[in-house]
Amino acid sequence: MNRRYIAIGSGPAAISAAEAIRSQDPSGEIVMIGAEPYGYYSRPGLAYYLAGEVPEKRLFPFSPEDFARLDVQLVPKRATSIDAAGHRVTLEDGRMLSYDRLLLATGARAIPVQVPGAELEGVVKLDDLEDARGLIQRSHRAKAAVVVGGGITALEIAEGLCARGVHVHYFMRQDRYWSNVLSEEESRLVERGLQSRGVQIHHFTALAKVIGRQGHVVAVETEKGEEIPADVVAVAIGVLPQKELAEAAGLRCRRGVVVDEYLRSTNEDIFAAGDVAEVCETLTDQYTVEVLWSSAAAKGRVAGLNMSGGLTHMYEKGVPLNVTRLAGFKITIMGMVGSGRDADLEGIARGDSETWRRLGEAVSVESQDGDSHIRLAVGENSISGAVVIGNQTPSFTLQRLIAVRADISGFRAKLLQAGDSLGDVIQDVWTRWSSSHV
Ligand SMILES: Cc1cc2nc3c(=O)[nH]c(=O)nc-3n(C[C@H](O)[C@H](O)[C@H](O)COP(=O)(O)OP(=O)(O)OC[C@H]3O[C@@H](n4cnc5c(N)ncnc54)[C@H](O)[C@@H]3O)c2cc1C
Repeated sequence: MNRRYIAIGSGPAAISAAEAIRSQDPSGEIVMIGAEPYGYYSRPGLAYYLAGEVPEKRLFPFSPEDFARLDVQLVPKRATSIDAAGHRVTLEDGRMLSYDRLLLATGARAIPVQVPGAELEGVVKLDDLEDARGLIQRSHRAKAAVVVGGGITALEIAEGLCARGVHVHYFMRQDRYWSNVLSEEESRLVERGLQSRGVQIHHFTALAKVIGRQGHVVAVETEKGEEIPADVVAVAIGVLPQKELAEAAGLRCRRGVVVDEYLRSTNEDIFAAGDVAEVCETLTDQYTVEVLWSSAAAKGRVAGLNMSGGLTHMYEKGVPLNVTRLAGFKITIMGMVGSGRDADLEGIARGDSETWRRLGEAVSVESQDGDSHIRLAVGENSISGAVVIGNQTPSFTLQRLIAVRADISGFRAKLLQAGDSLGDVIQDVWTRWSSSHV
């Protein structure tokens, strides 16, 4: 008898799992339940779509032929419950589907803001394609928008609306942008980039209430009592893994669905991957949530292999990495680079990793050359993290040095004293290290 695999979710975690399952089980039945009508598309691409840089059709990495090749049955419905003992999933239309192995790949959802007026028409978020379409529609009529929150998504919304001719007020609770991941110099670089695009930054400013007329946003009031007219209030204060189905099914959950090294939940036939999974990180031995496309795909792959081939593949969390664009600057963030809490974020943001908030015993060194910037977290024997802004030449080299935990103890003093020639010193370290590790 053929096995039946069900994935709840149709993002990169579910797709990678389906590919892995198909590679080991050519005749098994794969069913993908997805609440969104659009199926599989690039969420990171939504920022570029909002800014008018890519057309909607470029957001879809899979063609109907790709789905046919995978032989996946797509069910465009919301799953409403899981009967773990009976191996069944119930859909919103009351249908029940039975499974042999189930994957939870339900992703994460924006945390709503808790202020009076938050329910008004015009208070928006950016989770999915529907939200991006809605923002574009609003931008045709809107004169001014207020953006609250932190991390990548807040900036993507601010930049996107700005590019569409809306005047954007960006509120920050404290003195600088993304303070638990970026250094002060990096925050300032990004802020200058935002201002040069026309975004009006309000430091030490928090949203107190959204003011409406006939159900629509017309202004906001800050905690200092200032009133600012706005047609749109965009909120990006972090996301929460969508773990409700798992909790109701009795699976162990904390911030996300807790999984073991095989990405198996506390039920042996139910796995979890992607933003919803909380995994133990080998590097630090701490449970971590990540909202990164590449991590979601990597987890999906391992879960799929284990669902179809027995518990043969352990998930080893790699160095979390994101290459993105903030305020016009290309920026790569990798490994452990920051610490503390950012008052603009309640938890994790999109395109973000909890690992980035750790620094360990490392010492930070930075160098600036015009609009290009490098920062390293240098430990006793290895580089544990890096941020590269602008010129990305050192990026690949650093990724390798960090990923293999290259022993840099012989170069440590040179790195710490490199000053503005940090880029050259990194290249030198790489040349010497790689020539002795062929
Ligand atoms: C605006 C934006 C910018 C981003 N930028 C970056 C970036 O720069 N770099 C980066 O690495 N990552 C970025 N991300 C994050 C990245 O897209 C996610 O980490 C990734 O999509 C997670 O994949 P996933 O498969 O876990 O879940 P998702 O892609 O979120 O897919 C989950 C799917 O499950 C569905 N679902 C949920 N519950 C149910 C249910 N009960 N029944 C049926 N279906 C259900 C949802 O509707 C959704 O379609 C960004 C995301 C957004 C929204």
